[in-house]
Amino acid sequence: MSGIETFLINIFFISVFLLLVPLLIERSPKLLSVTQKKTIVTVSAGLGIISCMVFPITILEGFFFDLRWIPAIVGGLYGGVPASIILIAITLAFRILIGGGGIYPTIIMGVVVLVFLIILTKTFNESSRKKKLIIGSCFSLVIGIVVLVVLNSLFYISISPSLILVYLILTPSTTLLVIYIIEVIHETIILNEKLIKAEKMEVVSHLASSISHEVRNPLAVVRGFLQMMEQMNVSDEKRAEFLKISIAEIDRANDIIRNYLTFAKPSLENIEIMDIREELEKVVNMISPLANMNCVELKGKIDQSYFIKGEPQLIQQCLLNITKNCLEAMPDGGTLSIKTSQVHKELRIEITDSGQGMTEEQLSRIGEPYFTTKGREGTGLGMMTAIQIIKMMKGRINVKSKLKKGTTFYIFLPLVDKEFSEVAAAINSSEQQFTRDHSYIT
Ligand code: ADP
Ligand code: MG
Repeated sequence: MSGIETFLINIFFISVFLLLVPLLIERSPKLLSVTQKKTIVTVSAGLGIISCMVFPITILEGFFFDLRWIPAIVGGLYGGVPASIILIAITLAFRILIGGGGIYPTIIMGVVVLVFLIILTKTFNESSRKKKLIIGSCFSLVIGIVVLVVLNSLFYISISPSLILVYLILTPSTTLLVIYIIEVIHETIILNEKLIKAEKMEVVSHLASSISHEVRNPLAVVRGFLQMMEQMNVSDEKRAEFLKISIAEIDRANDIIRNYLTFAKPSLENIEIMDIREELEKVVNMISPLANMNCVELKGKIDQSYFIKGEPQLIQQCLLNITKNCLEAMPDGGTLSIKTSQVHKELRIEITDSGQGMTEEQLSRIGEPYFTTKGREGTGLGMMTAIQIIKMMKGRINVKSKLKKGTTFYIFLPLVDKEFSEVAAAINSSEQQFTRDHSYIT
């Protein structure tokens, strides 16, 4: 293989292991801890070092030249002292495994690089982008010079133009380029996160200012009725009506505040493993009075236990917001069906109503803060909160709707490990034999 080809192969490995793998980790939807991320990045840089060594330029028998010091330097600088030690250990171990006279210069260089890494890594990580580029490329250049000096003075290897090219030009310039790309990727990701946060802050502050207004209205209504009941002689019939309206208004205020709080501070604080069947049963219990009032028949098949991880209060609120919307879409009766099933490794909750449905425009706006077609009755916060909760639980939601036919919500949530679920189900069913006497859903 010619020198250029090996060089390009080395560059390819460096791009994959130093740029692509860390980028994929940053962008992965799975939340990894800092230690996990660092471990993956270190292992990835280690693989980069080994790959570079597998494709060396053999100029002299027993001596191999390649770009191995780039992943070692870049990985060590970004990874800190533990990562530096691991990477240098990997370099030495693999080099000893290959054998040949070049083992000794590698051992000397390994120690030199490690000492530099230990001294520089902290300063490097606290520096600006420009300083990082300077530190990285100068470091690389110094290491290149030391390599040539060691080879020449200790091992009597003459410095050929190709050695100068590899160590004084290619190594520093590739290091510079790699650090530059890593920095740009990093900045873009941070910027993106900031943007999402800023957008959310905007919504939250908008919500906060409107919330006092939204809550004041129902309070004023309730106050008015109470005052009327106190001051005037109202008939029992009227009194009952006033109380009914007052309760509805208080519920409304409560809804607004609860949705707002979940949206503004949606931490999963009391995470536990729960059986979705139980949560659905509670939700159905809560909505059944409203369903009866609207002449809505509740149908469903939720007789199987599925275990998911999250906060029961939040998932209940999410399901409640969605099912309430379904009931509100069927003022003249209809059917609301709820089904659960397993699709691959996910739980699918299917909630279907036979209500008025949505137009395409409405469907595309669902979940937007304040989007409501219910006028004064609506808050436009229910779906936004529901979607936020599902996202927090690492799930997703699809909505299909046909005008005048009805709407179906498909909620997908990650299932907890099957083995665990089975144990939990067994415990659950033995407990439930005593407490459950009937199921309200057919
Ligand atoms: P609200 O219920 O206060 O209007 P939501 O955020 O809960 O606010 O819902 C927003 C809008 O989405 C509703 O006003 C309605 O137009 C539409 N929508 C939600 N669910 C349904 C459904 N099941 N059928 C028809 N339209 C729906
Ligand atoms: Mg709603």
